[in-house]
Amino acid sequence: MPESPRPVVVENAYVVPVAGKEIPSGHVVVEDGLITAVGPGPAPAVPEGAERVDGSGCLATPGLVNTHHHLYQWASQGVTADGTLFEWLVASYRLWARMDAEVVAGAATAGLALSGCTTSSDHHYIFPKGRGDLFEAEIEAARRVGLRFHPCRGSMDRGASRGGLPPDEVVEDVDEILQATDDAIRKFHDPSFGSMLRVAVAPCSPFSVSGELMTRSADLARSHGVRLHTHVAETADEDEHCREQFGVLPVEYLDRLGWLGPDVWLAHCVHLTDKDVRRLAETGTGTAHCPSSNGRLGAGIARVSDLLAAGAPVGLGVDGAASSEMTPLAGEIRMAVLTQRARYGPRALTARQALEMATLGGARCLGREAETGSLEPGKLADVALWRLGGFHAAIDDPVVAFAYGATPPLERLLVGGRTVVDGGELRTVPADQAARAGADAHRRLTTMDHV
Ligand code: ZN
Repeated sequence: MPESPRPVVVENAYVVPVAGKEIPSGHVVVEDGLITAVGPGPAPAVPEGAERVDGSGCLATPGLVNTHHHLYQWASQGVTADGTLFEWLVASYRLWARMDAEVVAGAATAGLALSGCTTSSDHHYIFPKGRGDLFEAEIEAARRVGLRFHPCRGSMDRGASRGGLPPDEVVEDVDEILQATDDAIRKFHDPSFGSMLRVAVAPCSPFSVSGELMTRSADLARSHGVRLHTHVAETADEDEHCREQFGVLPVEYLDRLGWLGPDVWLAHCVHLTDKDVRRLAETGTGTAHCPSSNGRLGAGIARVSDLLAAGAPVGLGVDGAASSEMTPLAGEIRMAVLTQRARYGPRALTARQALEMATLGGARCLGREAETGSLEPGKLADVALWRLGGFHAAIDDPVVAFAYGATPPLERLLVGGRTVVDGGELRTVPADQAARAGADAHRRLTTMDHV
């Protein structure tokens, strides 16, 4: 076990616990990787050897949780700048077929370094043969950056010759997928309290995966007690594909396959019927809402306010860096508010609801709500301290300044009490090194010399 980090006492900050009342000038005390006190005024007791952080002018929130990402896509940003999801995917598959572990390592380092999160999920679903251990490469990147990580072992088995969208060269055989997924769970998944790494099982989407892979994946995940993730109801094209191939709309198709439940969270859920909204809520199925990506690809605007009103868990995600080139999660808070209001009116979503989606809502999607997502004694010390002031100083309400304004710099980011960002600087991996790793991954993927 690594040594416990030094205790940290933050005082004088505007504290938003998310679960509980906001504190205009308060403290957060962190010891042994846990939050031990949250309240108004100065800390009642300072642990021995603690570092004291003056949070004046700062907003303290739970660490953000990213519920949907494709880190490898850092290497293919800018592809098909103007196209539908299916056009963008078909152009991207050709590039992604050439990726190797080095590309994934560099892309994941850059993407995680820029995320501003304390917990990130990732959905990796392309595994070209003979290119190294791509899953391990992103896990190693997350370990170096120091984030809590939920990598999803993704998969595709239905290539073009079987009615799917991807070319046959990027899909895998069902038995090989299940074996590799089982191996990944056994090797990396840690179910313990405070775990830094949990694996999920994640066939890619209804248009790239067989029904057999979906049901066998669900059986495998449930036999290990790990979660399930996939894309669903992203575009009108997907609706049409599902109607033609399966005779039902996407969410009903998942329901039929046993793919709704409290151990499942789904990316997008843009095109939902009223019945779909009810089913997601009554089954406790989570949604990873990715408003920037949905806008970039013209997919539509998800029924987030309806899902929240129905009581369904909803988190935020950035989706891959190639469909949402601005990857810090905080930007999705602003996008979520604006897109919901643009479509459903001025009361559709508040800044505070969006912040809750980015924290506790995301934790619910990942099954971590007892551990992270709010500032409460006994929870993991996943804490973000955002430096307001400067251009934000003209907005009185710190939550509105955070949600509506430009994303403020992180004064401090703690993951399990360990410092990942301090004074706006990433302390685990130098930011210029992480940026270079992303640029190198892009060059490596887009040039043929390593193939
Ligand atoms: Zn995605």
